[in-house]
Formats: sequence, C-alpha cells, structure tokens
Amino acid sequence: MKPPSPERSAVMRAVKSRDTGPERAVRKLLAGIARGYRLHRADLPGKPDIVYGARKLAIFVHGCFWHGHDCPRGARAPKTNADYWRGKIARNRVRDAKALEALAALGWRTLVVYECALKDPAALRASLESALGEQAPAGAALGEQAPAGAALA
Ligand SMILES: [Zn+2]
Repeated sequence: MKPPSPERSAVMRAVKSRDTGPERAVRKLLAGIARGYRLHRADLPGKPDIVYGARKLAIFVHGCFWHGHDCPRGARAPKTNADYWRGKIARNRVRDAKALEALAALGWRTLVVYECALKDPAALRASLESALGEQAPAGAALGEQAPAGAALA
C-alpha cells in the first residue's frame, strides 16, 4: 500500500481533529457523572466511542453531517461532489444501523449523541445522567430534531 500523499494526509488529519472535538466534550460531561468508561472498544460492533462495560452501555458520538442526522446541520447538502457525499453518508448510516442492531442483539444498550446535542450542554448532561441511571430506552439518540416540515436535502 502506498503512503497517502501529503495533501491527503492533511485532509485526513483535519477530518480527525474535527471528529474528536465533540467526542472530547461528551467525555468531559461523562467524567463528571460516572467514571469507568473505556474508549473505542474494537471488540464490539461498530467500535463504540465510549463504553461502560459494567452497565453494558455503548455510546457513539456522531457528527451530524457524516452520519446523516435528521437535523438542520445534518440535512445540509454539499454543493460539490454531492453524489459522492450522499453515497458516503448513506453507507455510514447503514453501517451505524447495523452496529446498533448487533449491539442490541448482544444485550447492550446504545446511545447516540449527535454533535448538535452539544449546543445545550445542560440538557445533554441530564440525558446522559438518565442513560447512566439506566432510565433511557435502548437505542436512544440525543440531538436536535429537524424543524417540522423541513425537507431533507
Ligand atoms: Zn444533528
């Protein structure tokens, strides 16, 4: 395999740093609620970002755009290479759904935190607290809702 070009490496670095921002913010909130999580457990379906093993709770932190979240930010259509992005995001959504299903089949509760949920840290914190208190239903997702009647691009 050829090493990536310098331009490609720069793009990959930029994407990575954008992705870790929301995850770090969620981890910071969680640290104030309950410790004992592990990160990026490769032995679980979908390699969840944050895992509370004893509680069997797997948390994913998703960027709204990349994961096609049903919110204003997630619905934003890229102007260039629209077909490429649409295809990529559709594949991400399929992969995400499969991971959540596989985790549920193994008896795990899952929680997806979309980056837009970070706009209201107090509400997010309350939701995380209830998830850690095992109040949240399996397969919960946290984030803004698309305004009623909004057309998905
Ligand atoms: Zn969103």
